[in-house]
Amino acid sequence: MSIRVVTIPYRADNYAYALINTLRRTAVVVDVGDSRAALSALETAFAGKDYAVEGVMITHHHGDHCAGVRDFLDSFEESRRPPVLGNDLRIPHLTRTLGHGEVVDFAPVGVRARGIFTPYHTLGAMTFAFTLLSDGDAPDTATEFDGRKLGTGSAVPAGHELLFTGDSLFIGGCGRMFEGTGDQLHAAMRRLFPPNECPIAEERRWIFPGHEYTLSNYRFSRSLPVREKLEAEHGPYTPPPAGEAKEPWILAITSEAHHGITQAEEAAARRIAAGMTTVPISASEERETNVFVRASHGMDFPESEQDGQPDAFAAQIHRVTALRGAKDRS
Ligand SMILES: [Zn+2]
Repeated sequence: MSIRVVTIPYRADNYAYALINTLRRTAVVVDVGDSRAALSALETAFAGKDYAVEGVMITHHHGDHCAGVRDFLDSFEESRRPPVLGNDLRIPHLTRTLGHGEVVDFAPVGVRARGIFTPYHTLGAMTFAFTLLSDGDAPDTATEFDGRKLGTGSAVPAGHELLFTGDSLFIGGCGRMFEGTGDQLHAAMRRLFPPNECPIAEERRWIFPGHEYTLSNYRFSRSLPVREKLEAEHGPYTPPPAGEAKEPWILAITSEAHHGITQAEEAAARRIAAGMTTVPISASEERETNVFVRASHGMDFPESEQDGQPDAFAAQIHRVTALRGAKDRS
């Protein structure tokens, strides 16, 4: 069984996706902001032959992710209209909700979707994690597999997980906090990157975000203060007696992180210059180069450094919220 991911670009920088089973001519679609873009991608993927869409998964209710749902559904005969799944009643034509940790199998396609609730950009935002239903027939090329080729036609190998994050996570960044709080942003980052208990290694998890924001995210991250430079200038950090750390310390990243981000930015720029997308990225690379993920795991500041906050978690929330604020102003 061969399952491929098709990246569907539309508008200035949006991405929707389709998981397609070419043998059975079946598909699951993630987000439909533009029905024509989705339908023409499917036509191309199935070489104009007949196909069935088994499900439409909507990450969140914003128009650029679901405005095309109605026209998309209307393009199929009534008996062949796929169900629309998500976790927000504001999603048009929603037929089924999928909660955190719930799974749904699309047997005709050969994939399983698991819901990861990641509310903060909107209060109903979901990430969908897909795995192959039966790994038996899938090519086991995991060791030499290059996930970045997924969008250009190679098959998903056994034992890998594909995360469709909508606006809950971008490569090198996160969504705006339109409806949620810093606590929820922090929780979402930790759900997407579980500290200990992740059953699938991060080298085998691939992130497919809803927008091509990669270069601007890396540019922002590279502009952040570097901890070692601050220490050279001002001496070691001491939390202010009144509590909360202030800029520039609260936004500081380590020089190692800065170096990794610079390299990731160069690689992303080369891809863009060659007319490619920057999706997907492995979760392991993302953990190293996404400052919001790093801050949510306390990666750029010592455990002891709690900025007068009651505990390490509160300090992480404080920092990731400050980073989001700085990005909004950038
Ligand atoms: Zn959005």
